[in-house]
Amino acid sequence: MTNVSNEQWQVRKNAAFARGQGNMAPVYIDHAKNAEMWDVDGNRYIDFGTGIAVCSTGHANPKVTAAVQQQLQRFSHTCVMVTPYGSAVELAEKLNELVPGNTPKKTIFVTTGAEAVENCVKIARAHTGRRGVIAFNGGFHGRTMLAMGLTGKITPYKNLFGPFPAEIYHAPYPVKYHGVSVEDSLKALEMLFKVDIAPSDVAAIIVEPVQGEGGFYPAPNDFMQALRAMCDEFGIVLIADEIQTGFGRTGKFFCSEYADIEPDLITVAKGVAGGFPLSAVVGKAEIMDAPLPGGLGGTYAGSPIGCAAALAVIDVIAEENLVERSVQIGTLFGDRLAALQRQFPDAIGDIRASRGAMIAMELVKNGDAEQADVELTKALVTLAYQRGLILLSCGTRGNVIRFLPALTISDELINEGLDIVSDCFKELAAR
Ligand code: PMP
Repeated sequence: MTNVSNEQWQVRKNAAFARGQGNMAPVYIDHAKNAEMWDVDGNRYIDFGTGIAVCSTGHANPKVTAAVQQQLQRFSHTCVMVTPYGSAVELAEKLNELVPGNTPKKTIFVTTGAEAVENCVKIARAHTGRRGVIAFNGGFHGRTMLAMGLTGKITPYKNLFGPFPAEIYHAPYPVKYHGVSVEDSLKALEMLFKVDIAPSDVAAIIVEPVQGEGGFYPAPNDFMQALRAMCDEFGIVLIADEIQTGFGRTGKFFCSEYADIEPDLITVAKGVAGGFPLSAVVGKAEIMDAPLPGGLGGTYAGSPIGCAAALAVIDVIAEENLVERSVQIGTLFGDRLAALQRQFPDAIGDIRASRGAMIAMELVKNGDAEQADVELTKALVTLAYQRGLILLSCGTRGNVIRFLPALTISDELINEGLDIVSDCFKELAAR
């Protein structure tokens, strides 16, 4: 235990970090185990955020930790583009098998989610010889220049950072709760093709099967299928950004499986390596091989530590049936949140629990979808961590509470965490 308190660390952090890199809670973690964390003041927290959908196999998972320790004793870095190692090849083989569809697949490794997204665009452009990329309103794809350009939300991601990369177009994402139908989105895409860019100039369409940062809105299956058909018709590369939805979290190994489609390229990051920085692009071999040798990569791409961790994560998901478990987690959350909504129908506008352990509730005023209750959302997140529960918010309007627990969490801890949510809710509603 360190002698520095949460409060003291926060003062030092505010002085040492630029304000652009904020933190949600002034809680400095000392250690963590599975779905619980303890801070430097000795407070214990239930973790419903997993470091933004990363530690899906739990904090300090024993198998992942052992795999990483063994790897560390052998070597920590050689660069996969200089003198590679078998674990990277094994992991690529496994990813090629795990992603949806029967078309032969290939993989490249990079380090962060944003890098995976950027590389998808590079690969799609090399394959098609075209320039345009279409993304969706409310989408989030990362903070680097191209990924930020694709991101469909200004505050806080894009303010002050322009000019943005050229040839990026945004279309509405279908959200029934906010009055945007699948038909509306598809019509807008047709309009885009008439007004801004011919489909024959579009290299790729990038879509999240559930919008993550944008508010946990699942893409309707017929929308994903329509995108697949549109991409087939015009020779456009369909990129599924599964950085937040992937790796067993949504009740399928990859969320695109709900719509029974085979994306051309899939991004993989976050949950793949249980907290070690590793990301990948997995896609149809013919498309993946378009860039020239040396055109893709990075110094730390496919780090041996990340590969060892990811191979262990894949084993844990299979051995502990975590994909099935994510469905149970979704049902448990969904049932309890629906009960809370019946108590507070004016404040809890919508519950989204149809995609496994990627669950959300949207907070509104007067039961009106268009009156976002941002203050209540912020107050709930704050009161929750003060009571020992880490909750995350999201949404283009900032009024969605998202639940991303470890897939290894017990029912007991879920119920304890949801009791805290319910108590906080009652207290805030009474204020
Ligand atoms: N795409 C999606 C769908 C994401 O959720 C995120 C991260 N929240 C990213 C891309 C960017 O990943 P990273 O922060 O690792 O660059």
